[in-house]
Amino acid sequence: MNLLRDTGPSGPELVSGFVERLRAYRGPSVAIMEVCGTHTVAAARMGLRGLLPEGVRLLSGPGCPVCVTPVDLFDQALHLVREAGVILATYGDAVRVPGTRGSLDRARSQGADVRVVYSALDALALAERNPDREVVLLGLGFETTAPTVAAALLRARQEGVRNFSVLSAHKAILPAMEALLQDPEVRIGAFLCPGHASMVLGAKAYEPLAERYGVPCCVAGFEPEDVLAGVLCLLGQVQRGEARVENAYPRAVSAEGNRAAQEALERVFQRAPARWRGLGEIDGSGYDLRPAFAPWDARRRFLQGVRFEGREPAGCRCAEVLRGRIEPAECPLFARACTPQQPVGACMVSSEGACGAHYRYRGRADG
Ligand code: SF4
Ligand code: SF4
Repeated sequence: MNLLRDTGPSGPELVSGFVERLRAYRGPSVAIMEVCGTHTVAAARMGLRGLLPEGVRLLSGPGCPVCVTPVDLFDQALHLVREAGVILATYGDAVRVPGTRGSLDRARSQGADVRVVYSALDALALAERNPDREVVLLGLGFETTAPTVAAALLRARQEGVRNFSVLSAHKAILPAMEALLQDPEVRIGAFLCPGHASMVLGAKAYEPLAERYGVPCCVAGFEPEDVLAGVLCLLGQVQRGEARVENAYPRAVSAEGNRAAQEALERVFQRAPARWRGLGEIDGSGYDLRPAFAPWDARRRFLQGVRFEGREPAGCRCAEVLRGRIEPAECPLFARACTPQQPVGACMVSSEGACGAHYRYRGRADG
């Protein structure tokens, strides 16, 4: 879809009004990071980069959980299916991410039992249908998906399902945003905050970032007019010299977020240091299972004392893409050795990963 020609059912007049306002911007230069993978896709699809006024840049951020999960986590998952003989359940994109020695997809073609599920409850149901097997859910995602895994674990405990466990690689988005602001090599002037994670976190969650770092934040939805409204809201703040949190997605995101989801997270997980592809270790950014859930913690049950290589694929520059230091097309492997059909790095695997989105919509007005 090209925004200028085809805005679909989402309000062409509204959108063209937004585009005019975008073009009229005469404020300071600024780099806006779109934190979420879904925003990355929406921006690429509508050719948003080509509509931005001079001096305004859009950076893709660490909002794809598949992309930011480090290689050694996939090595752990591979160990579980190859050495521990478990049924490994995971979401679609994760099976194609290269580990140090192949992907889960490849392991499956060699006989490993890897199943794609659509939810954590599906994985729990799989365990209930296979009482003589161990089922491990490879749990990826931010505050969007982690509460559903928490709900599955609460149910597993309540129902006494003991052959189900979770290899948790869930991450908290706020500490990663803060780490990027503290990185002297990354200059972020404003954040387009993720719509989905914000439904759980609430818009207010970004206030400490706006206050402490003087960075404008705006929560945005995923339709073209939502993304444009978010960008305009940020440019308005930049122009006025403000740094606060605005919510351009009030139909889905409240100030306080989803209390029930926050409580489920709190009951099941505790915050711990976690490693991110590209960003290294970030304090308090991981969701580990609480000790009360040790019987359902795959790491404690199957991986104690096992070491993993975690070797990044040669030449892959996902780390720099994820920090907004280079555009995907600046990676020498982009669209040559690395394509969605044969991804070298994680960012090319998911259509919402930065490289995948740029590949799919390259040649649009986004330059
Ligand atoms: S896999 Fe898709 S939904 Fe999940 S984060 Fe990446 S982009 Fe977003
Ligand atoms: S193009 Fe491929 S190899 Fe290069 S950074 Fe993106 S995913 Fe990694």
